[in-house]
Amino acid sequence: MKVHNFSAGPAILPRSVFEAASQACLDFNGSGLSILEISHRSPEFTTVMAEAESLTRELLNVDDDYAVLFLTGGASSQFFMVPLNLLNEEDKASYVNTGSWSTKAIKEAKAYGQISEVASSKDKNFNFIPKGFDIPQDSKYLHITSNNTIYGTAFSEFPETEVPLIADMSSDFLSRPVDVSRFDLIYAGAQKNLGPAGVTVVIVKKSIVGKVERQIPTMLNYQTHIDKGSMFNTPPVFPIFVSMLTMKWVKDNGGLEGMAKRNAAKAQLIYDEIDRNSLFTGTAEKEDRSLMNVTFVMTREGLDEAFLSLAKENNISGIKGHRSVGGFRASIYNAMAPESVQALVDIMQRFEKQYG
Ligand SMILES: *Cc1c(COP(=O)(O)O)cnc(C)c1O
Repeated sequence: MKVHNFSAGPAILPRSVFEAASQACLDFNGSGLSILEISHRSPEFTTVMAEAESLTRELLNVDDDYAVLFLTGGASSQFFMVPLNLLNEEDKASYVNTGSWSTKAIKEAKAYGQISEVASSKDKNFNFIPKGFDIPQDSKYLHITSNNTIYGTAFSEFPETEVPLIADMSSDFLSRPVDVSRFDLIYAGAQKNLGPAGVTVVIVKKSIVGKVERQIPTMLNYQTHIDKGSMFNTPPVFPIFVSMLTMKWVKDNGGLEGMAKRNAAKAQLIYDEIDRNSLFTGTAEKEDRSLMNVTFVMTREGLDEAFLSLAKENNISGIKGHRSVGGFRASIYNAMAPESVQALVDIMQRFEKQYG
């Protein structure tokens, strides 16, 4: 049975990736051993690690000034690892608050430096991306959340500033080309657009690490993982392997240009329907709409459950909205087929015929 999975995360991955990952659990590359039982120091696995790194570099055009790390602890651990590693107590950093994840990043950072929230869309329930705000030039960095998984907004362009950028790209990593040279650090939890939960990719400019005075626990120090090639301790072997498979799929499907084109077409399909259909309305400002997480609500009271039932009958899964926005959310990450988006559009049209 084909289920159209619109879950926000853990989320859809390409079918071919699930198949190759399953096979590797039984017999990894004809070795007679499972990927789950081999040493992370074996040549078989170090090859996987090297390939995961080189694919990240190739897809995003990352040069040697940056390290590419595969860490544990989720994107949520980067909320504190970033300021812990990059700020002395008296140092300033600026944050843009565009939703729940930004809010959490700001809260954690306050323990390690002088943090200012330079812009926020909180007063409108985070339905837009602030623009044209001032950034204190003495900030060590400006932190943004490139795509707001819960509120369905995204930076279509990153802020123009001399201050180095740091971005949480968890929910739009590898969804479009990004000029990495504009960033000092990019991080992304895998389970939205890259792989299984358990690994977080960190792309960090090597020259910014090792400048703070405080003592940093070994495991939380970027330098440790840079020096050891993400192999200081046992890395999350399987999530790294599956992420590597997904990156191969991205490469084989046109790279980031290919993903951007495909994602824009899918997003247009569903946003056009939301804008046309009298029963639905989008929650995010049009110019700030996310191409990954599409948030929308019903224009009439009391019909949400009926629409969710119709979705279920049609094997459409994961479209219930997050409680902070309500209504519906369709996450249409890289691996989502246009046909699945069309299946959702079809039931929206049927629903309008029945109730509109
Ligand atoms: C899901 C998500 C997180 C949290 O990721 P974890 O890996 O669960 O810690 C952080 N930021 C964004 C933008 C997310 O979508």
